[in-house]
Amino acid sequence: MSLSEELRALYQEVILDHYKRPRNFGELDPADSFAQGYNPLCGDQLKVYLRMEGDKVSEVCFEGAGCAISTASASLMTEEVKGKTREEADALFDDFHQLLAGGEIPDREFGKLEVLAGVRDYPVRIKCATLAWHALRSALAGGDVVSTE
Ligand code: ZN
Repeated sequence: MSLSEELRALYQEVILDHYKRPRNFGELDPADSFAQGYNPLCGDQLKVYLRMEGDKVSEVCFEGAGCAISTASASLMTEEVKGKTREEADALFDDFHQLLAGGEIPDREFGKLEVLAGVRDYPVRIKCATLAWHALRSALAGGDVVSTE
């Protein structure tokens, strides 16, 4: 996939907006589970909190500190997975990871997550962009500390 300059600039704007004003930022109390993510390559650290309603994610929040990509990705993730079932959230992460890692682009709607597609061209940033998702997956599985290493 090759992004036009114009699209790239637009995506950059959305990423910066979510970095400066992260959505669903802060501790969720009480939470059903939470998990911490750490990306030693970049120094990104964050914690993802979940509240479930049966099999559905009813609330998801995050807190922590990291680079623009990891923070924006976490913010966008909270918006996309709210209301999804465990299975749907898991499947979205798999496809999102494939979108970033290169290779064939999964045939699905990514919504706003699409703005992170440019990370494809910067393999070292993939860990930044997927950190919150690894933490989400861990929280969905009961919670733990995850490292991208
Ligand atoms: Zn980072």
